This record gives sequence, C-alpha cells and structure tokens, in this order.
Amino acid sequence: MSQRKPTLSPTKMIMYLTCPVKYYWTYLNPLGKYYLRARKELTFGATLHRVLQDFHEAGGVEQVQQETLIAKLEERWSEAGFETKEQAETHKTLGKELLHAYFEQQIQVEVPPKILYTEKMLRYDMGRFVLLGRIDRIDEHADGSIEVVDYKSGRSTVTEEQVYEDFAMRCYLLLARAHFPEKPLLASIIALRSGEQARVILPEAELNEFEAQTRLLGEEMLDRDLETYLPRRIYACDDCDFLKLCQRNAEFDEN
Ligand code: SF4
Repeated sequence: MSQRKPTLSPTKMIMYLTCPVKYYWTYLNPLGKYYLRARKELTFGATLHRVLQDFHEAGGVEQVQQETLIAKLEERWSEAGFETKEQAETHKTLGKELLHAYFEQQIQVEVPPKILYTEKMLRYDMGRFVLLGRIDRIDEHADGSIEVVDYKSGRSTVTEEQVYEDFAMRCYLLLARAHFPEKPLLASIIALRSGEQARVILPEAELNEFEAQTRLLGEEMLDRDLETYLPRRIYACDDCDFLKLCQRNAEFDEN
C-alpha cells in the first residue's frame, strides 16, 4: 500500500527556520496543542480573509455594496484571542476601516482582472513531500498573465523589495507555476491597513533556484531528529506559547 507523502506549507517552513523546537511542538508532538493559545492577530487576519473571500465570491465591487462588505465583518466576527471586549471592539473598528480602504482601492482598478480563485489551496509534489499552500487570491489579466495576491492584515505599507523577498510568496509562485504552467506570473502583496499594493515579476531562474533550496529545506525538516533538539533563547521566545516548556531546560538561557 502506498503511503501518503508528508505535506509542508510556507507557514511550517517559516516556523522551522525561526525555531525548530517551536515547529516540533506545534506540528510534530501532539502534546504541543495543550500549550497553544488563541491569538487575536490570527483571529483578526482569518476573519478579514473570510470576509474578502465572501466579497469576491459574490462578485466584488461590481455586485456588492460597501455597506454589505462592512456588514459581513459583523457577521463573521470572532472574539477568540482578544483579552477584553474593548480590545475586540477596537479591532472591529480597525477591520471596518481596512475593508473601506480595500473597497476604495478595488473601485479604482481601471481594468479589473478576472478573479479565478480566493483562498485557493494548491499542492505541488516536490519528491519526498508535497508543498501545500492556501493563496488569498489568484487573478487572471487580459494578457493571460496570472497574479498571485497575498493580503497582509498587519501591514500599512509594502514595497516591491518586500514582495520579492517574501518566503511565503515565493512558495505561492512555485504552486502557481505548477498549476498554470507556461503562464507569466506576477506576485503581489496588499497591505490591508492602507490598501497599498506592490507587485513584482520573479525571474524564472531565481524561482528555479528557490525551488531547489526549498526541496533541500523540506528534506532536512523530514530527516532531522527534533525530539532531542535542545531549545536556546532567541528573539522569538518572549512571544512564544512554549516558553514555559523550554524554560524547564537548564541550558535554555545560557549563550
Ligand atoms: S520558547 Fe523560544 S526556543 Fe522555545 S519553542 Fe519558543 S521560540 Fe523556540
């Protein structure tokens, strides 16, 4: 009987690169879930993504009034991870402002692309593992090019350089290239806090090189014995759900 290949996503890879121990507790050891807390940033981002998915599936600015888009936020709202009612209300107000900015940005697009997918899960077999990623939006332009769009709910600015260097975006381009072979690809990020958008084209050779590096990284993640990996304090520890767990290790705070 053939075994299903393990799946790796950009989120998993970024976490592994940040801290292999955090990756182990989050994805490999089932006991890790008892330490995970709901986070307001994740709830807020997920809610906005769902509202924008509803908006585009209903036809976008052509079909949906701005008030309906804002009302969707109320309908989809979740308070998981917020510490107080006031904090949740502040974020809801911010969410409405973001949706307003997004709507205004969409109205100004002179030749709107065809939106092929929203929140689209794509897979790409990379040998020993499958690369998996959920892409916020995939547009098709009149010239046949495909634009991979990523929303960043925590950002108010974005530059072309940031799009170019974004690890997750590069993974999405690999997925899009496998799904739309031969089509020219554009990469774009929308900073939802302002509606600002930056887009770039990644040269084919660079994407090939990234694919080779990603394959090596994925294989390293599969082969490494993380059960015995000792945690050491890094910049990300203060905001980590596993801090108490790692502090049990006598050498954790030693340099
Ligand atoms: S507390 Fe620090 S070392 Fe431990 S899992 Fe979190 S980030 Fe990694």
